[in-house]
Amino acid sequence: MSEKTKENEAEATANGSPKPTSPNADLKHDFASFWNYSPAPESSDFVEIRKQYQHYIDGSFSVPAKKRYFKSINPATEEVLAEFAEGTSEDVDKAVKAARKAYDKVWSKLPARERGKYIYRIARMIQERARELAIIESMDGGKPIRESRDVDVPLAAAYFFYYAGWADKLDYAFPGRKAEPVGVCGQIIPWNFPLLMLAWKIAPALATGNTVVLKPAETTSLTALKFAEICMDAGLPAGVVNIVTGAGQTGAAIVDHPDINKIAFTGSTEVGKIIQKSLAGTDKKFTLELGGKGPNIIFEDASVDQAVEGIVNAIFFNQGHVCCAGSRLLVQEGIADKLIKKLKQRMETLIVGDPLDKNTDIGAINSKMQFNKINEYIEIGIKEGATIHQSNSSNLPDKGYFCKPTIFTGVAQSNRIVQEEIFGPVLTIQTFRTPEEAVEKANNTPYGLAGGIWTDKGSKIFKISQKLRSGVVWANTFNKFDPTSPFGGYKESGVGREGGLHGLYPYVNLK
Ligand code: NAP
Ligand code: MG
Repeated sequence: MSEKTKENEAEATANGSPKPTSPNADLKHDFASFWNYSPAPESSDFVEIRKQYQHYIDGSFSVPAKKRYFKSINPATEEVLAEFAEGTSEDVDKAVKAARKAYDKVWSKLPARERGKYIYRIARMIQERARELAIIESMDGGKPIRESRDVDVPLAAAYFFYYAGWADKLDYAFPGRKAEPVGVCGQIIPWNFPLLMLAWKIAPALATGNTVVLKPAETTSLTALKFAEICMDAGLPAGVVNIVTGAGQTGAAIVDHPDINKIAFTGSTEVGKIIQKSLAGTDKKFTLELGGKGPNIIFEDASVDQAVEGIVNAIFFNQGHVCCAGSRLLVQEGIADKLIKKLKQRMETLIVGDPLDKNTDIGAINSKMQFNKINEYIEIGIKEGATIHQSNSSNLPDKGYFCKPTIFTGVAQSNRIVQEEIFGPVLTIQTFRTPEEAVEKANNTPYGLAGGIWTDKGSKIFKISQKLRSGVVWANTFNKFDPTSPFGGYKESGVGREGGLHGLYPYVNLK
């Protein structure tokens, strides 16, 4: 042992912390104590959260017609974070009228480069307020600060920058054609990436000259209202962006409003189907980004350690609250035992707890309802005869909705836990022998949003990815996003694409 290591050990023992193990110690040592970090909470002192929030309509905050409010809970503490206005069809109508007026009188008349300037300004202001937005996202939705700070907020700014760039270049996006805006867009988003989903929707709509009425999810409305403040600070003309908060009925009022020209929805397949039925027979354009049950396929020639990290990233980070999560592991038989053993060891090191702590890997489940749903699925898995394994490392906090990372082995393709979206940190593991069997199993669910392939062979990546009925296939990585890349699903995972050049199409009529 080097002098330095000896010194460190002596110091650690003096401090009362657990004695560090040497790098070559037996892997069977106690992982829990090895990964005992000191708490590193992000301070929320400077974040201003008001007691009550109104709708944002026509450039200012506006009291809801029925003067009713609902409470939003911090899922890590179960304390009330703020109250939000409950949107009725009158509020939606007021917002649509404001959006129509702004569309007719201002936004569609503005030179494209001027539109671009506003969107760039919004992007820069998201960057300037990044820390505040990340903290709020974690407090409101339960996701680890590491994720909201490093993924949600920077990507939200990146989508605004990217689409700001397109605003005055639509002639190049659609050569030989004239792209005209569609008009007023109704946009409804889910709770798993609140600010990021808002960016995916609002940025391309504004860049192409449309105006917007957006409804955030009822459990995560706060960053949308902070975004409203950003629109005001950016001097965005009144009515170009309107935010109406509320529950499912508020979303339905947007879908049914006769003066809306396009609906963009991200959420569950169940609600997506209801929306598609309501839109049948109307001339509204629509895109639907729905659920998923992503296969993550590990071949024998993959780097096992890298794949284990990829699996953890694909399903456990962000509590599995990811539509494109790799929630079904398909591992080739020859390496299955080794990989599952390493995965179990890695699960012991995952820290479940305070979303604001920078060490946390798995934060709080977004709501009580989702928490109950995940636990119901865990019960279903056990009843279906699958073998459950959960990490033993973290003690879950006494308050809040927390779930340990969970895997199920011994599952059959027909099991509900294999077929249905759980939207939590729950992974099913199946094995396969041949590439054909992997493809067959991967494609055998009603969904087709995203998947992953892990192999050493480039040719195998191309061969298998072409056979997967998935909108996105990642190779030797997972859950990577970029504004230039289109995203969307096959089968019951949705209709249409968002992101990239493809993401402009739903917001224009081409002449
Ligand atoms: P959800 O229940 O379908 O809700 C999505 C949004 O629709 C929420 O704002 C919701 O309001 C609203 N809504 C509910 N009923 C409605 C109705 N009848 N008409 C119009 N709007 C209605 O989904 P979620 O539970 O929030 O989100 C999780 C789901 O989203 C998962 O299935 C996930 O896979 C999917 N998702 C997909 C993508 C993708 O890109 N494909 C991305 C993220 C999430 P309330 O909040 O008040 O219920
Ligand atoms: Mg909340």
